[in-house]
Amino acid sequence: MKTGSFPYAFFQDKIVNIEDAKVSIMTNALQYGTAFFGGIRGYYNEEKGFVSFFRIDDHYKRFLSSANIVGCEFPYNQEELKKITLELIAKNKPKANVYLRPFAYVGSTELGPNFANAKLDFSLHMIPLDDYMPTGKGLSVVVSSWQRISDNAIPTRAKISGGYANSALARKEATDGGFDEAILLNSKGHVSEGSAENLFLVRDGKLITPSVSEGVLEGITRRSIIEIATDMGIITIERSVERSELYVADEVFLTGTGCQVAWVEQVDRRSIGGGKIGKITEKLREKFFNTVRGDDDKYKNWTTRISVNA
Ligand code: PMP
Repeated sequence: MKTGSFPYAFFQDKIVNIEDAKVSIMTNALQYGTAFFGGIRGYYNEEKGFVSFFRIDDHYKRFLSSANIVGCEFPYNQEELKKITLELIAKNKPKANVYLRPFAYVGSTELGPNFANAKLDFSLHMIPLDDYMPTGKGLSVVVSSWQRISDNAIPTRAKISGGYANSALARKEATDGGFDEAILLNSKGHVSEGSAENLFLVRDGKLITPSVSEGVLEGITRRSIIEIATDMGIITIERSVERSELYVADEVFLTGTGCQVAWVEQVDRRSIGGGKIGKITEKLREKFFNTVRGDDDKYKNWTTRISVNA
């Protein structure tokens, strides 16, 4: 996927031109993956001239908890991060759907991977982003031969850059095999998640999703879907899921800031739900898109509208 960027980024404590937001090849984070990141979407409403950003506060809460997980001090608090974000958006005035990438990294050029005594640097950049994965069709996914990293190897509830080599290997295998996405099993052989998405099944009208102790990221979309479903009277069961349960599910879908709500048509070349989007997935997806665009009054407090007209 080729992406451009908006002209300004936050880098080394100030807003700069994106061309000036550069680090040395010796940077510790680049060499060893000693970094963590976030991802926030904004939805452009052309008619009304605003962008609706989804759950900024919750994204930064998780981002800051990653600093605690790696045991590093972080130079900004939640309020400061939000202020920086709003300033950068105001400067870039995006007239498109956007993706924000907060990034905390060990910026020193010292040799050797180490979070001890490491000072974290912070950057924030923005790219235009519509679909990260196809939303107009069902996905064909494959259970990966790569195992999902376990929390005792690289904590999975933080978005630690080094851990994404695991996702990249699984995605390569899936892409090479002609699939849209990989599903990873954890060290217990249970279903965990996609390379950058949480996973849901529908069975007998109920939602089932691997619990947070199955090596998954505690996804903000996952949490939102559970809450939206509950409000619609749909129960969610968080428990372990075995591979073959995917094959017998009525519906399977993936959630994430990137993929949003993406329905799965095939798992390991086995058709799910007759190859059509399921009723529950469709209902949740519709509600989700209205919510993120700020069109659903019930969930308005999840969105931050920023005018980009002037
Ligand atoms: N799992 C992983 C490994 C991810 O990288 C992501 C994307 N952040 C998700 C799940 C989905 O999380 P969220 O809904 O917070 O974007």
